[in-house]
Amino acid sequence: MLKTDAQFVKCVKADTEFNAFACINCGSCTALCPLGIDLHPRTLFRYVLIGARDKVLQNTGNIYSCLLCKMCEDNCPADVPIAENIRSLRSYINRDVFRLSRG
Ligand code: SF4
Ligand code: SF4
Repeated sequence: MLKTDAQFVKCVKADTEFNAFACINCGSCTALCPLGIDLHPRTLFRYVLIGARDKVLQNTGNIYSCLLCKMCEDNCPADVPIAENIRSLRSYINRDVFRLSRG
């Protein structure tokens, strides 16, 4: 069963601008990603919005593989800040999982 945590999205947004509410799940981001990796922003962002923290963390490697090139974002019909959202997830993981301070 999918475990969810209603506070998760609040934690991700604690000191970032994570915003994926406008996503219409069109799939362009996945189709255009030059890495061809298993990073599916729409799925990842949906996991955040429903509080599926474990599912997000299972994608940690993919989250850090992203080039932040914005090929996806530049072609997103809903203007979702995809690269910035990926940065937000990295910040969350650095802070709450790896326990890295900002120094
Ligand atoms: S391209 Fe934008 S609207 Fe389409 S699935 Fe990706 S994030 Fe969502
Ligand atoms: S920003 Fe990341 S997810 Fe988007 S196209 Fe570039 S590598 Fe792929």
